[in-house]
Amino acid sequence: MNLSNCSLPLLGFAAFSGTGKTTLLEVLIPKLVGAGVRIAMVKHAHHEFDVDKPGKDSYRLRKAGASQMLISSRNRHALMTETPEEETSLNQLLGRLDQTRADLVLVEGFKREAFPKIELNRHALEKPWLHHEDKNIIAIACDSAPETALPVLDINDVSAITAFIIRWMEGHKAQTATCDSLSPTMLSVDAGREKILNAISEPSIAQSLSLESLHHCVLAEPVIAPVNVPSSTNSAMDGYAIRSDDTSRDSYQLIAEVFAGHGYDKSIKAGECVRIMTGAPVPELADTVIMREQAQDVNGTITFDTRKGAIRPGQNVRQAGEDLRKGSVVFDKGTRIGAAELGMLASLGLAKAECYRPLRVAIFSTGDEVQAPGSAPNAHCIYDANRYTLRAMLTKLGCELLDLGIIEDSEEALTSTLTNAIKNADLVISSGGVSVGDADYIKTVLSQMGDINFWRVNMRPGRPLAFGKLRDVPFFGLPGNPVAVMVTFLQFVEPAIRKMQGDKFWQPERLSAISQERIRSRLGRSEYTRGIYSVGANGQMEVRSTGSQGSGILRSMSEANCLIEVSPEVECAEVGDRVTVIPLASRL
Ligand code: AMP
Ligand code: MG
Repeated sequence: MNLSNCSLPLLGFAAFSGTGKTTLLEVLIPKLVGAGVRIAMVKHAHHEFDVDKPGKDSYRLRKAGASQMLISSRNRHALMTETPEEETSLNQLLGRLDQTRADLVLVEGFKREAFPKIELNRHALEKPWLHHEDKNIIAIACDSAPETALPVLDINDVSAITAFIIRWMEGHKAQTATCDSLSPTMLSVDAGREKILNAISEPSIAQSLSLESLHHCVLAEPVIAPVNVPSSTNSAMDGYAIRSDDTSRDSYQLIAEVFAGHGYDKSIKAGECVRIMTGAPVPELADTVIMREQAQDVNGTITFDTRKGAIRPGQNVRQAGEDLRKGSVVFDKGTRIGAAELGMLASLGLAKAECYRPLRVAIFSTGDEVQAPGSAPNAHCIYDANRYTLRAMLTKLGCELLDLGIIEDSEEALTSTLTNAIKNADLVISSGGVSVGDADYIKTVLSQMGDINFWRVNMRPGRPLAFGKLRDVPFFGLPGNPVAVMVTFLQFVEPAIRKMQGDKFWQPERLSAISQERIRSRLGRSEYTRGIYSVGANGQMEVRSTGSQGSGILRSMSEANCLIEVSPEVECAEVGDRVTVIPLASRL
């Protein structure tokens, strides 16, 4: 939903009727006003509502046919607009407010619109929670203790709610300020990712790839099952096949043996059975299998030591097409091929599939101090770690690599490297050289060759980030610090790559765990602490940090199995607080 007409922080209150929304607002607004916050309110009312009174001049003029009535006096004015055709949208209404006269817009109603809200809940009313469904809820004011990662406020402590709103407004200001071209303001992680994803296109070039080279590729066409899997109805056990209308006999005559890969082409009669192996097709009319462990064979007479009536018709038999039915959609377009998908394609007898062409990604490191591993250490130098973390993460995503090495600090070297990169790659990633204090030549070259923005993202680690296009080729200038490279890759580059690859079904995995430590952050900032999550003694997921968290300390990353995310609305996570955990196992 688009609420672009509002440049101010917009905050709603979500609650069932009877919770006391208006009563709370009546005491909250004076507190906010007292703290210097000018309030504008938008409230939804039922369709019969009218502010005007019959008999007043304004009422008479409206009834005479004025579809807009603006009435003004020394102290206030009001605009009444008749909207018989269609209700005015929240965005249009916001456009009507004089936003130069307010600092915060509070909204009552419009519960289906997507904008930040505080959920109000009173335990005595026994109403369900709304934050499970409404992802726009940023905090809960209530008189109980819900299990949630969101901040929880006491609904009866109006000062605490006021303080929360004021802090949230500060965070909001920091987040929404965009900062193209080295402006001192900062961009939020979400806003940065959204800008990046908007600038990135989905793939168009497909090619037929053989099973051997399909791993990690993304399907450009749906896969339809050409055959049934299994192809014939077969036994799920080593045992004896009988007819399901013939299960209560004392003994059966063994008439044949069927091995996997072979068949028995006659049908079986009542009183007969065949010995059958797992995976072998059941003969005609034989549709029930008793496992071998429950059978006795005395010279070809088979008895089963099952209780009377315990044989279930159809047991231990897999139906033809039970796994995949011929003609059904096995995978949608946009599915990434992993190990299980490869196995399924093979089990359908397919030797190839239509996939998007693998993405070719050029990488290089910058900085005169950066030296290739394997050489004797030079004075004042550090070994290049970033190209190797990038190589690994890109390979994991199924990208083809164009490794351009370490580029010396000169305009010519960078210009020729970038010229080569954009000729041969779909995406270019560099590390180092994008923070404010860095040598200016990188910024100069990037600005000459394309449309690149230098951002300061309100996150830690990973504040500086350059993003844009060199001709049509997306470019990421990641920070230099090794941990910042990995974290910004996970937050910004991986989502962009997945979109460029046509991967439709990926969402970063996010879990919730109880923090065993105090984790510092700052309002407005996204903090990514490297952590170790595990299931604690009481069965609850717990998480702790890996210790020293400097953005150059790669060990913090190698010991971690997750990132602990402290979101911008939260100042600090205390021991026992719920925090968001981003598992790393599938991504590094
Ligand atoms: P920069 O953003 O270029 O100022 O780099 C920030 C820090 O990261 C500096 O301490 C650099 O030495 C370090 N750094 C830059 N590139 C690399 C690299 N490829 N591998 C390891 N450390 C690096
Ligand atoms: Mg540098």
